[in-house]
Amino acid sequence: MSFKLDYRVCAVISVAILHIISLPLANCQTHDSNILIFYNANIWTVDEENPTAEAVAIKDGKFIAVASNEEVLKLKNANTRTIDLRGNFVVPGFNDNHVHFASAARFLEFNIMKAANQEEFVEKVRDVVQKLPDGDWILGGLWGAYDSWAEGSAGRQSREVFTPEMSLVEDLTRANPMFIRKFDNSEFAVNAAALKALGLSPFSPSELPEVNFIFKNGRFNGILKGKGVLPYVGPKIPNSFSHERRLEQTRRALAEIRKYGVTNVSDMSDDEQLDIYRELRETGELTVRVHFRYMLDRWHELADQGIKVGSGNEWIRLGGLKGHIDGIMGNSSARFLEPYSHDPGNRGRWRRLMVDNEGNFVEGKFLKYMLDADKAGLQLTVHAIGDEANNLLLKYLEELHQQNGVRDRRFRLVHAQVIAPGDFKRLGELGVIAEVQPFHLSDDMRWMEERIGHERCKGAYAFKSILDSGATLSFGTDWPGTAAAEYPINPMFGIYAAVTRQTLTGQPETGWFPDEKITIEEAIKAYTLNTAYANFEDSIKGSIEIGKLADLAVLSQNLLEISPDDILKTEVFYTIMGGKIVYEKGELSMK
Ligand SMILES: [Zn+2]
Repeated sequence: MSFKLDYRVCAVISVAILHIISLPLANCQTHDSNILIFYNANIWTVDEENPTAEAVAIKDGKFIAVASNEEVLKLKNANTRTIDLRGNFVVPGFNDNHVHFASAARFLEFNIMKAANQEEFVEKVRDVVQKLPDGDWILGGLWGAYDSWAEGSAGRQSREVFTPEMSLVEDLTRANPMFIRKFDNSEFAVNAAALKALGLSPFSPSELPEVNFIFKNGRFNGILKGKGVLPYVGPKIPNSFSHERRLEQTRRALAEIRKYGVTNVSDMSDDEQLDIYRELRETGELTVRVHFRYMLDRWHELADQGIKVGSGNEWIRLGGLKGHIDGIMGNSSARFLEPYSHDPGNRGRWRRLMVDNEGNFVEGKFLKYMLDADKAGLQLTVHAIGDEANNLLLKYLEELHQQNGVRDRRFRLVHAQVIAPGDFKRLGELGVIAEVQPFHLSDDMRWMEERIGHERCKGAYAFKSILDSGATLSFGTDWPGTAAAEYPINPMFGIYAAVTRQTLTGQPETGWFPDEKITIEEAIKAYTLNTAYANFEDSIKGSIEIGKLADLAVLSQNLLEISPDDILKTEVFYTIMGGKIVYEKGELSMK
């Protein structure tokens, strides 16, 4: 069955509605009403009708002209500011389809995931101590994830095992208790202030089961091991930070985002993060637009507040929900039609909203959430990794169309990692948006074939097949990643992965399943207009067109002309939000 034509009609209607909603909001913004002109640029607009331009004129935060230098400069008057971009390459600001902002903000504050030696560790601790008031805990850490990776297809060298030497940071951290962990929770490290706060002593540990103090050369150096550590320590350390600390974390994370030309993120953090976005919008400090998703089982709260698709404004958009149906590849819990190749007894697991209290699959339970939330006018976005998870969600989507009627729902298949051969066609027929994070491919290919075999890998991160099916391909990062792998916010990692299908070090030479490579133009579109479409915001964002918000990234090289091997060398010279330069890369910015 095909719903395709109906979608297009609905899309036009909903785009028109969004336009009407966005107009009064835009007029409320206090933008400089003088004209700003960027000229002498190499502009890739992602607008099929008008793909390239040399100049743009911006007024009240929106494009009023996208054309040649000559035509745009005609608009110049006495109050016009003109900026010569000296031939640099310009694209719409990047729209990231998937970030965990609060975790990323916390991760940026302190992490030693990549620390390879004590000097790097001490530097990181010195840095975090300067950020924190006395008494605040230093948590996180996640050391060691990159130590044990043998040089597999991901091309990373294995290296000597790193363990933090706590005596080196003792003087630095007298005022801040510190409890940090190895990425796999097999080891923990504490300083003296933490031992005191936790009521622990290495010299009287006997009453604590499975909490082992590790002594080296007769001396305790802060390392704890054992299954009892987290249960004992967990309730005694703060599980949230002060609002002030989170504001600071957010400010630093926004600075990180600006550096990479990202102007829109689709987030799914906690309610306090949403409050912080609103607070920083008030003070003019919010420098990324946010599409915010609540968890699916909270759909009722949104419905009660009258929130629907399109609610919010051009800075903070609401109306989306995120659900999960299966696990992840990293620990072989993604749900497959056939068992894992390396673990024949295992097909993966269903998530909480799919099962009863005993963990047994409950027919129709998840679908009921989907039907109710959909009926309330909310957008569904659901995590599915394994081929059975993706297959089942497509069935549920058909049910939605049948029971609630066909409409422009822009259903987002989140990750869409492994698709069964027969299901690609359905992606297109059902008008699915594949919300993928292409850097996962560069990172996961080192063990994908071992876990699910060569045949099934043909449908893994199969971006070309997804596009060919007629589905919408949308890109993002999953920033900051997992406890074992970092997924940076820099869009170049994802674009590189999708175009080359190689690891960061260029392996394998012709790319992993090279038939699934996509073009650089397709990758840029997936990272801009298609994510704006996925957010129901394509009428105001995602391409450089008259009437749209003037969100731009000015890049150091022309992505359309360089060799794909050089994509990762691309730098951002300017990030522009609503016509305001929010990031400028110092003296490098001009050729
Ligand atoms: Zn995620």
